[in-house]
Amino acid sequence: MKRFIAILSLLFLPLSDAWAWGQEGHSIVAEVAQHRISAATLDKIGKLLAAESGSNAVSLASIASWADDYKFEPAGKDTSGWHFVNIPDDQPSYNQARDCSKPCLVSAIEKTKQTLANCSATPDSRRLALKMLVHLVGDIHQPLHTTDRTDVYTSKDDRGGNDVPVTFFGKTSNLHEVWDTGIIMRTVYAWGSYVTRLETSWFPGRDLSSLTGGSTADWANEAHQLAHDVAYDAPDDGILGVKYFTKASPVVDRQLAVAGVRLARILDQAMASCS
Ligand SMILES: [Zn+2]
Repeated sequence: MKRFIAILSLLFLPLSDAWAWGQEGHSIVAEVAQHRISAATLDKIGKLLAAESGSNAVSLASIASWADDYKFEPAGKDTSGWHFVNIPDDQPSYNQARDCSKPCLVSAIEKTKQTLANCSATPDSRRLALKMLVHLVGDIHQPLHTTDRTDVYTSKDDRGGNDVPVTFFGKTSNLHEVWDTGIIMRTVYAWGSYVTRLETSWFPGRDLSSLTGGSTADWANEAHQLAHDVAYDAPDDGILGVKYFTKASPVVDRQLAVAGVRLARILDQAMASCS
């Protein structure tokens, strides 16, 4: 009965709540990136966005969740598959032919990166690529956006944990939502404070040289491994509390921080060639 009620409650979740880092996660990644992009990149982004926002002032956090709304608009419906890559949980790593025969998160990041770096592309398409990229680099660091598991009882795929009912500190939820928002909100309620926490406690003294590189597929593989080792390492009864949180929280910190660093590098590179 509990399981039935949990599943029923999932049906009434707003879809946008069920498929991405929440707005908090995306804002954190974007703000960490904004702290690290060059002044020249910031200036160019300001000019690119100004036609739409009416101002040269840049807040990457304010555009970071746009892609989750866009996928529900008629013009954006073909982008709904860009937000995840279903690497099977029992497979060690990403395989393009198997996991990305249709556009997926890995190919979408590559495509939008190329559009943003293409100075001949229209400002409208470069602006769309920018907003998409700021979002998707966040998504690829959410472990459950890179993994899919088949339920042993129903043989159905669990949609990256969306169909895994859990309770998180007594609140009915699902595993994907716990990773999108639950752990973040449990750590620090306001996303700006979460960024401050990362900047003052996570980054200082940390060697980032090994973290800034890697291909998009490498990032997917990293996240996929974390999904296997940590996100899916949940008790069978689905009751998640202090023990689960204590293991998951450092992973969420790391993924948000690293996503921000990598996003900054991508934006600096992509904006470098165009004025
Ligand atoms: Zn998304």
